[in-house]
Amino acid sequence: MSEDQYDVALICGNGHLVNGYWRTETHNNEGFCVDCGSATSPECGECDGDIKGRWLSGMCDDEPFSVPSYCRHCGTPHIWTQKRIQAGEDLFAKLDGLSTEDRDLLNKSIPDLIFETDRTPEAALAIKQAMTKIEKSSRIFVVEFLKSNAVGMANRLLGLEG
Ligand SMILES: [Zn+2]
Ligand SMILES: [Zn+2]
Repeated sequence: MSEDQYDVALICGNGHLVNGYWRTETHNNEGFCVDCGSATSPECGECDGDIKGRWLSGMCDDEPFSVPSYCRHCGTPHIWTQKRIQAGEDLFAKLDGLSTEDRDLLNKSIPDLIFETDRTPEAALAIKQAMTKIEKSSRIFVVEFLKSNAVGMANRLLGLEG
């Protein structure tokens, strides 16, 4: 019953919602995102399960739509989530002053920085400790990454927001 009341969402590789009514408003389907040029898809790249779209019985189209981070069918991070995690790993790989262990710890902490979990405080602590090891001039890159990607709790713990 409930499944059919939702359409399927067409989302680009960077996580922009292109069409929340992929099945019923096909005239709005685009192969590429007009905001970033990334290819669009209505399904999970791992299991081909569809991405839940907008509610078909909704009265208006302006209801907020939250783009999912993980596939509801198989739990795999969607491509835009994988890109955010990869961006963090690439950034940490470029920082001087960190041991392989430090980097492994930071890489493992990225999902807990991006999403609020029970381990978010621990992940924020790992960042705080790493910050003392990297060059002062490099810290701003980590700060900017966190400001754009980390959840409010992590940024609050790190003193990056009010
Ligand atoms: Zn896009
Ligand atoms: Zn999936």
